[in-house]
Amino acid sequence: MGAGLGGLSAAIHLRLAGHPVTIFESNSQVGGRANRIEQDGFRFDTGPSLLNYPWVFEDLFRAAGRTMSDYVQLLPVDPSVEFRWPDGQCFQLSSDMKALLAECERVSPGSSPGLTSFFRDAAEKYRLSFDKLVTQNEDNPLRWILNLSAREMWSTGIWRSLDGELKRFFPSRYIREAFGSYGMYLGGSPFDLPGVFSILPYGELAFGLWLPKGGIYGLVQGIERLARELGVDILTSSRVLRIASEQGRAIGVELEMGGLQRFPIVVSNVDVPTTDRELLGKSSSPKMTPGVLTFYWGVRGKVENAGHHTIFLPNDFRAAFDDLCKNKRVPEGLPFYISIASETDPDLAPPGDSTLFALVPTPLLSELPELDVADIRRRVLRRIGLDESRIVVEHAWTPSDWRQQFGLFDGSAFGAAHILRQVGPFRSRNYSRDIRGLYYTGAGTTPGTGMPMVTLSGRMTAERIASHAV
Ligand SMILES: Cc1cc2nc3c(=O)[nH]c(=O)nc-3n(C[C@H](O)[C@H](O)[C@H](O)COP(=O)(O)OP(=O)(O)OC[C@H]3O[C@@H](n4cnc5c(N)ncnc54)[C@H](O)[C@@H]3O)c2cc1C
Repeated sequence: MGAGLGGLSAAIHLRLAGHPVTIFESNSQVGGRANRIEQDGFRFDTGPSLLNYPWVFEDLFRAAGRTMSDYVQLLPVDPSVEFRWPDGQCFQLSSDMKALLAECERVSPGSSPGLTSFFRDAAEKYRLSFDKLVTQNEDNPLRWILNLSAREMWSTGIWRSLDGELKRFFPSRYIREAFGSYGMYLGGSPFDLPGVFSILPYGELAFGLWLPKGGIYGLVQGIERLARELGVDILTSSRVLRIASEQGRAIGVELEMGGLQRFPIVVSNVDVPTTDRELLGKSSSPKMTPGVLTFYWGVRGKVENAGHHTIFLPNDFRAAFDDLCKNKRVPEGLPFYISIASETDPDLAPPGDSTLFALVPTPLLSELPELDVADIRRRVLRRIGLDESRIVVEHAWTPSDWRQQFGLFDGSAFGAAHILRQVGPFRSRNYSRDIRGLYYTGAGTTPGTGMPMVTLSGRMTAERIASHAV
């Protein structure tokens, strides 16, 4: 159940393996966090907006004997992301190595050799991660680690923090903060996450950033079409209330609209702790990534001085992460991100207008149940320099809305954090150890969060099911 990207990917792989597949999705449209709000000619992607690792999606279509470009057209976004600080400094990323080297030199003279070494180092980490760690259904920590030779283990930098890793290459605080801010998506702080996650900024630079034509939802629609063509039955507005089991074996699901639907195998794409607590009545509390407050603004005209992706960082970077992850409050310096997807695909807004998405990280619901949304909104608009009279369409989703709409445990936007004790074989497994025939897929299980990872997760869950069948 659940038609997020992980659920759709698992369904496609299971169909390809010959299983009849039905998906029960509680919402009226598929996509999960990667959803769509449409109003007065503005089309907003609700959650993910940065699409990287396009090869993962190409592989999904290829596995089904199809070509992705027949379903989804990817538009390049380059320059990709711009970082801005209150002191006026900015730093613009690009997959064009010459442009990126020049930008590093502008921000921090003499830093280009560091960038070249960073690329070499992170490319090796990336290769090791994807070839030997990320995509393995390996439960035994020792066997998982022993996939790597001693030299390879050393290369992962797993015992250093992401910030410590970046310090090896970049004396400039601006470059370190820009690359370190990617840690937010994985669990909060670059001061706590393992150094191997330098593959995140690397992956974006090496493989580029993309926008599907029609927005991120264009990708969801392409994958939904593929699933339906293959014969996956997708039932929307069909909430599952309980996973039914007998004598330690899953026998199906009970729907809100009534009745037990019998199936020999159940795959839950619902956030893992939500599945455990609400659908199985079990407790489970992994450390979660932060919540988010998201704004969707339909803006008359162009937003001046802003490209597709901009990340606004505070003056005191470390204090902001301490506020968010340790002091459990909305950071004083208010780091946030905006995406104006209509800069790359103008069809997402009425002619000449802009769709603006803003994402502000917040503590989890259990840490800060009430947010001062009006105050955060005012601060975001002031920093972007946008007059509110230009906003003609507006929606705001709090962590509580995210929880209610998609079942995100404690309002956590990205799912279980990627700290060392929650990656690889230490992460929630993609099968239940108590109930035979029950599997998990999506951000809460292996390999982890983000659109490419959950798409891989769908494949890994299907492989797990196949391995249990023999
Ligand atoms: C604001 C935000 C920004 C993000 N930005 C990025 C980004 O830029 N790039 C990136 O790669 N990733 C990003 N992510 C992460 C990415 O969106 C997720 O990792 C990914 O989409 C999660 O997919 P999933 O398969 O785990 O399923 P989910 O999207 O969590 O879907 C689960 C599905 O299960 C359904 N469901 C829940 N309960 C029930 C029930 N009881 N019965 C039936 N169905 C149920 C839900 O409605 C939902 O459709 C972002 C996430 C958020 C929230």
